[in-house]
Amino acid sequence: MSLAITSALGEPCVLLKLGEVVLKGKNRELFERRLQGNIKTALREFGLKVDIRRRHGVFVLYLPEGTDPATADAVARRVTDVMGLVWVHRAWRVPKEPDAVTKAAVELLADREDVRRGASFAVRSRRRDKRFPLRSNEIDRLVGAAIVDTYGLPVNLSAPDLTVYIEVDRDEVFVFTDGLPGQGGLPVGMSGRALVLMSGGIDSPVAAYRMMRRGLRVDFLHFSGIPFTGSESIYKAYALVRRLDRFQGGSRLWVVPFGKAQQSLKASGADRLQVVAQRRLMLKTAEEMAHRINAAALITGDSLGQVSSQTLANITALDDAVDLPILRPLIGMDKTEIMAEARRIGTLEISELPDEDCCTLLTPRRAETRAKIEDLRQIERRLDAEELAVRLADSVQEYKLED
Ligand code: ATP
Ligand code: MG
Repeated sequence: MSLAITSALGEPCVLLKLGEVVLKGKNRELFERRLQGNIKTALREFGLKVDIRRRHGVFVLYLPEGTDPATADAVARRVTDVMGLVWVHRAWRVPKEPDAVTKAAVELLADREDVRRGASFAVRSRRRDKRFPLRSNEIDRLVGAAIVDTYGLPVNLSAPDLTVYIEVDRDEVFVFTDGLPGQGGLPVGMSGRALVLMSGGIDSPVAAYRMMRRGLRVDFLHFSGIPFTGSESIYKAYALVRRLDRFQGGSRLWVVPFGKAQQSLKASGADRLQVVAQRRLMLKTAEEMAHRINAAALITGDSLGQVSSQTLANITALDDAVDLPILRPLIGMDKTEIMAEARRIGTLEISELPDEDCCTLLTPRRAETRAKIEDLRQIERRLDAEELAVRLADSVQEYKLED
């Protein structure tokens, strides 16, 4: 039974619509090549020989002959996490004959709940090979009539409940329905490498996601309050990195034990400046790490005014601590927007697990909202912050993601 269905539909494949297609010339070539590599990496877990072919702004994943539909579905779901794609369609490729196309389109709608409920539909065809005997509006009509005959569905061209797409290509015809949305953006790696300061909180994972989506490959740096806190925050950072790794692959997590350095800042009389001074020391350490791993920018989850360390004056004082650019993709977002995105990308439930954040250690009762850079520099001179940052970077531990 299922064999018969497969043969009417042809062979399963996955069709990918690329984002930012406005890119031209050499950049486009870079975009496509990088994307192709990233898709290969993402699909490694399936152990399938997948052939990726480029076709006029579309990628086609050719799965080995006889691949079962469930596996093809899983491949399609997996690639939705690869940055740079706007749509992912599970498709069927059929021979270039009007009859085969019609049969496949009809078969495609079998066993669908919305079809049983009498959903309205439209057929949209595109003919990339002009030698195909039917023009696209003729294909639309032929296939549409067959669907009406078989299921009695109403046609609705302006706002259909479901759309059947038919794309006539050079060697075959692709038949598919509405797809899964991709992440959009640019392929990871296209924009270089950056280092994310990753707490166990809600914001920094979203910041990491946003910058990966702009083509940055990111490494993750977490500061733990050890030995004055437990390891929970490290486990959270690790779980978050694992979750985010779906979007880029090959992620690395670095952890710095930061408790003693926090104590030294306190001993240097940081007082109400403790939080900003800690954040500056984190940034200096991150900058040192960034040089070691060839990262060209730092990324944080700061959002303007969200907490006292994120006032404009304090952000200015943070920028002063390092030379590398600090990217803050969440700067203009509300907490509710950030949380909605965290939920969508699957990091929220991890971020909400309880932990003891190092930043709550030694927090003054009233934190300074208008830190003066000269005061901060003075505290740093007392404990030689530059030297301390190098030592902290030396003490970093890499946590390897297991497969
Ligand atoms: P988050 O939800 O990302 O923790 P937050 O709203 O709690 O952010 P802060 O605690 O002020 O804000 O932190 C601001 C940014 O500083 C974080 O988004 C993160 O980039 C960085 N940061 C804070 N704590 C740590 C930490 N323990 N390790 C690494 N980076 C940190
Ligand atoms: Mg935090």
